[in-house]
Amino acid sequence: MKGKAAVLVKPYQFEIREYPPPPVEPGGILIKVTASGICGSDLHYWRGEMKPMLSGKPGPVILGHELTGVVHTLGPGVTTDSRGLPLKEGDRVVFPYFFPCGHCYNCLRGEWNHCPHRFRFRASVEEYPYCNGGYAEYFYLYPGHFVFKVPEGLSDEALTPVNCALSQVIYALHRANLQMGDAVVIQGAGGLGLYAVAAAKERGAGLIISIDGVKGRLELARQCGADHVIDINELKEPQERIARVKELTGYRGGADVVLEVVGYPQVIPEGLDMVRKGGVYVEIGNIWPGSNVTFDMSRVLFNMTTIITTAHYDPWILSVAVDFLERTKDKYPLTRVVSHKFPLEQINEAFQQAEWLGRQQEAQVTRAILVP
Ligand SMILES: [Zn+2]
Ligand SMILES: [Zn+2]
Repeated sequence: MKGKAAVLVKPYQFEIREYPPPPVEPGGILIKVTASGICGSDLHYWRGEMKPMLSGKPGPVILGHELTGVVHTLGPGVTTDSRGLPLKEGDRVVFPYFFPCGHCYNCLRGEWNHCPHRFRFRASVEEYPYCNGGYAEYFYLYPGHFVFKVPEGLSDEALTPVNCALSQVIYALHRANLQMGDAVVIQGAGGLGLYAVAAAKERGAGLIISIDGVKGRLELARQCGADHVIDINELKEPQERIARVKELTGYRGGADVVLEVVGYPQVIPEGLDMVRKGGVYVEIGNIWPGSNVTFDMSRVLFNMTTIITTAHYDPWILSVAVDFLERTKDKYPLTRVVSHKFPLEQINEAFQQAEWLGRQQEAQVTRAILVP
């Protein structure tokens, strides 16, 4: 048995190759991938901007980490998912794309998403277990990995971004300790921004303000629960936008929580000034090296702003994310976060389109998925 895989051989160039899936060890699971998304970070890798993160092992890799699929082979001993629900071959599942080792200081402390060895999937494709990325027919879950059976009725389009974008923002709001009635500002209304609006609504936020420059996205943000939107084409200066947030948040004097999912470091000083005294600023978007920014630390200090950063999530969040999606699928237009679908063979074209769409002002939500 062999499976197709799209291998990134050098920046801007994928090649379709075939690899044998690994023998499934006791406790392991082989996944048949049904859809894999193109996330902002995949675009950074594709452009070659994240080379230092290839663990010093540059070379051909299979990218893709936002994925879903069905159980192809259950390793000996696996009978349930991570919630204890019965699991069988053919079941649709989601799983974290990173693999905590369970044998390091961070894992010992239960900080699964801080494990320094969690990126086993970004090893070279020439090494076991080969199928270690989402842009392939098969994906291997190491023994003991977290896996969650998905209820019927959620499509690939709805499920693909769950193990990255959606879990990421739910975890961020959890860490920010967003409370019932809180005012929250979300900088950016792309995929993550829309998920963040809906997730904040479900957590009981009292006031949600979404900021973006694309009208279609702001309209979706409203449908996801934003009470107010700020169009950066209308309020062009950061000072105007800060003043608007202060006006909308009234007696609070700013937002309790501000979440950054734009991915440009320039928006951070503006976002910090939107936080109320004693509030929380959450940084998610600026993931690539060189995301430098200058801001006045004395303002942050005297505002007693808590700055939280989040990369990845604690695996239990994935269970929360799936339940959230199931519960709210008819309430919010979250399935519209995925806008384009390509067969895996057209991956080069798909990436070019995703790149192009991301730079269009009129584009709405730009998440594309690949189907092996
Ligand atoms: Zn991602
Ligand atoms: Zn570890």
